[in-house]
Amino acid sequence: MALASVSVDLDSLGHYCRIHGLPESVLSAGAAQSIYREALPRFAELFAETGMRATFFVVGRDLDDPASAQAVRSVSAAGHEIGNHTFVHDYALTRKSPGEIGDDVARGGAAILRLTGTRPAGFRAPGYTLTSSLVRALCAQGYRYDSSVFPSAPYWAAKAAVMAGLAVMGRESKAILDRPRVLRAPRLPYRPDLEEPYRRGRAGLVELPITVHPLTRVPIIGTTLTMLPPRALGALWRGLTSLPFVNLELHGIDLLDATDVGCPELAASVRDLAIPFSTKRARLKQALRRLTDRFEVVALAAVAERVAV
Ligand SMILES: [Zn+2]
Repeated sequence: MALASVSVDLDSLGHYCRIHGLPESVLSAGAAQSIYREALPRFAELFAETGMRATFFVVGRDLDDPASAQAVRSVSAAGHEIGNHTFVHDYALTRKSPGEIGDDVARGGAAILRLTGTRPAGFRAPGYTLTSSLVRALCAQGYRYDSSVFPSAPYWAAKAAVMAGLAVMGRESKAILDRPRVLRAPRLPYRPDLEEPYRRGRAGLVELPITVHPLTRVPIIGTTLTMLPPRALGALWRGLTSLPFVNLELHGIDLLDATDVGCPELAASVRDLAIPFSTKRARLKQALRRLTDRFEVVALAAVAERVAV
């Protein structure tokens, strides 16, 4: 049976403000913590119902909040994998010096080790951007896999358009646009090159790219699963069934809606917040059922151990 993984990036709502050029002060204190305190337990319940073990990518600094830390400890105890999503989730991480990059990765890993007693095996970069310095830092710190490569042309083009639109309106996005080379990266697990991680090489870790549709390159992420009309979604799934590995990427915000967030400014920019939580949950549950029907769903660390690349 082919393998599949489901991962959830626990990006706090403040990061969505930064992407959309909004001050974080538009968020209430409750909303700022809602990804860990509200969305995370909802995901844990959904995964329990569908009988799967997933990977949660956490941002080390967020574990300073005791309630958030407790929520992560609880999913770790339930058998889910905890991966490193850096310490501060800086979208411009890869523009920093090798020393600063290594330090941020190390602090994120240390926060997870302190909380769970286990050193993380995997890493996902903020904004999906991978460079030579970052892969070298991951190898030096003993990571077994990275899962940041996102070779989706529609996503890349949409991000470029949103950033240009914000600039026209005089709002600066903190997101950065990846090098177009990513669009030619392998789409199935591979061993990256240390100089150019978007091509095959001999690095000491495995890259597990986020899955895109084989023909259209439409990304298979929470936003598409909760927003695409059923017919388009059906076509998307049919394109995936023959793949030897599916890496489904979700975000904490995929199980929150505008009522949970209570921030009209953010809801105006993040369109899927308009979909009620109950609808989003039902759609994600259907997607997970489709995965478990056809694939053996395991955490990303287990995939990294089992694929031969
Ligand atoms: Zn993120």
